[in-house]
Amino acid sequence: MKAQFIFASLLIATATGYAAPAGLAFYGDPPDDRHPWCVHDRNRPLPPRVEPKPFKPAPPPRGAIVLFDGTAESLGKWESDKDGTPTKWIVRDGAMECVPKSGYIRTKEKLGDCRLHVEWAAPTEIVGEGQGRGNSGIFLCGVEIQVLDSYNNPTYADGGACSMYGVAPPLANALRPPGEFQQIDITFRRPIYQGDKCVDPGYVTVYCNGVLVQNKTQLEGPTGHRGRSKPGPLPESAPLRLQDHGNPVRFRNIWYQPLPPRKPEKGIRGPLSVEETMAMRKTIAAQVRDDAAKMTAGSVEQAWRLAESLVYEKDEPTCRKAEQLLAQYTAGLKKLPDDQITARKDEVMVAFRNFQYLVKFGFVPAEFGPKADVDRIVKARGWDKPAKKK
Ligand code: MG
Repeated sequence: MKAQFIFASLLIATATGYAAPAGLAFYGDPPDDRHPWCVHDRNRPLPPRVEPKPFKPAPPPRGAIVLFDGTAESLGKWESDKDGTPTKWIVRDGAMECVPKSGYIRTKEKLGDCRLHVEWAAPTEIVGEGQGRGNSGIFLCGVEIQVLDSYNNPTYADGGACSMYGVAPPLANALRPPGEFQQIDITFRRPIYQGDKCVDPGYVTVYCNGVLVQNKTQLEGPTGHRGRSKPGPLPESAPLRLQDHGNPVRFRNIWYQPLPPRKPEKGIRGPLSVEETMAMRKTIAAQVRDDAAKMTAGSVEQAWRLAESLVYEKDEPTCRKAEQLLAQYTAGLKKLPDDQITARKDEVMVAFRNFQYLVKFGFVPAEFGPKADVDRIVKARGWDKPAKKK
């Protein structure tokens, strides 16, 4: 089994190649019992080249928080990461551009778990190689998603574009040529600790130009250069930082959506226990009944709303009240002349289907009084039969 694994790894390595062997062989922290490679290991296989998806505009969805929209005004949402003074990065042609040696920049706003969209472009003129070409970085709570012109520019695998820097190479290299904008979509989930115990290590998922390049890659703490990352708590939220690595990399169309909390944080996502589920159903039922109480007393709308609450929680008094109101409603329907019933066919069919649903799932008994009335009205007119083909 072990031999097979090694053989498979060698095959992958042969298919994808390694970084150029130039440079120091002894560089980043050495392998350990959880990491078979050094940090920035040149013997680590490079990701395969995958064609990027065609460019598709990605405007901020409704509710997204825009961090840069191409205007000089939105650059005001950013500041120097060193001292909080206004950034020296410039806005040109709808993009903000790193001014080398002016330093990292950060948002004034703090981001926690989020879905983040960023577009970046390496300079059209190719200068330098490896880590020296089109280098910047997107930092979320201390975790860098690498920005690098990795188009025909091999470097160590865990330092290529869209790597989690020094930790995890991307699954693929889906970059567009330098000068073109790369579209990066990141889902970031920070680790959750309860006391000293890590109950969720957190992860990043990254799409580069529509291609999945990090698939729920587990976080290993803040990333760094040459040093092995160490798992530990990250801040709950932190400014989004962009790196000045000495290259005039451009950024545009930056927006994010905060993500809802996960279950260990008392969020509603993830599988729930029976107790949690039943407690939530009770709450939902109470909300629906509260809503019904605000409706016109005795109206059919109120009756259906009360019946709806039974889906979440059985409740005899509510069931009887709904039955009583719906019986009044169907008694009224029965008294109508035929043409008026026909004119209200849509409404009658809604009632017919509502009753079918409620009985099918046992929310009301099969002999629920008003249901029989509506069934008779519908069946007498053949409305329950499929429409004949013309
Ligand atoms: Mg970088």
